[in-house]
Amino acid sequence: MHELIVRDALDACFASWPQQSWIAFRCPKCSAVNHLKVWDGSLAEGDLDGVPGPAFIIKRRLRLDDFHVRARERDIELRSLDLQWTIPAMSAGK
Ligand SMILES: [Zn+2]
Repeated sequence: MHELIVRDALDACFASWPQQSWIAFRCPKCSAVNHLKVWDGSLAEGDLDGVPGPAFIIKRRLRLDDFHVRARERDIELRSLDLQWTIPAMSAGK
């Protein structure tokens, strides 16, 4: 995937899986869909693997100071410094 700054990637997020803390974004450079896993204080780039069960294969993990994740039923909310993103969940079962 293209090297992107975190803010550009988060600005391009369009879907989330709150139970797994996964989010998807569309690369603003090449339109490829990429996936991130998020935690308080860090995020990881990786690939989703649906066989045999949903799994996230981490390729690179970044530590981020002042990065906060709140997974809710219908979205994931991310906050960093004075920025905030709300990424809607994919519908159940997908
Ligand atoms: Zn790209």
